[in-house]
Amino acid sequence: MTRRLDGKRLVIASHNAGKVREIADLLAPFGIEGVAASALGLPEPEETGATFLANAELKARAAAAAGLPALADDSGLAVTALGGAPGIYSARWAGPDRDFAHAMAEVHYRLRDRPREAAFVAALALAWPDGHVVCFEGRVEGRLAWPPRGDRGFGYDPVFVPHGHCETFGEMDPEAKARITHRARAFEKLAAACFP
Ligand code: IMP
Repeated sequence: MTRRLDGKRLVIASHNAGKVREIADLLAPFGIEGVAASALGLPEPEETGATFLANAELKARAAAAAGLPALADDSGLAVTALGGAPGIYSARWAGPDRDFAHAMAEVHYRLRDRPREAAFVAALALAWPDGHVVCFEGRVEGRLAWPPRGDRGFGYDPVFVPHGHCETFGEMDPEAKARITHRARAFEKLAAACFP
């Protein structure tokens, strides 16, 4: 069952400053203020879920313990011929140094000559202090390019070409990318269901 947000504040359940800013920007047009979990001194839970949705949900539930509704996301690249890998381990494939050139090469090496279909997936979870939680998933389908192209994005952007486009996410105008991402699609569903 879905539920609408009745206040104008929520916790953004992330300790990543870039992600907090991105989510705060998405909330602003709805007149909703996002407060970072770190600003409230909330601990960062371990991501022990087996899916994007499970991880988003456990982060949102943990942050809602502070007494305000809390919004969390979890995302990554799912490569069809690799059974959905790197999936929830997308950040981990880049190692402690966040070396995405290495992570992209690892995907390319494991794929060899198999089909190059892939999707970026984002899960969003909104949890209330009474334990109620709602979750939404957004996807953008595409194909993997090699070698990587473009330096305008982050993570796996330089190898991902969304269907219907020629440029990789790394080459694309950031505003054009922002309109079609997995995160934007998940957010549209969340806003339609939960925001006033
Ligand atoms: P998390 O959601 O913070 O666990 O991290 C997900 C990881 O997936 C990021 O570190 C990126 O490597 C990758 N990822 C998620 N969304 C995107 C995107 O839009 N472009 C490129 N990489 C992404």
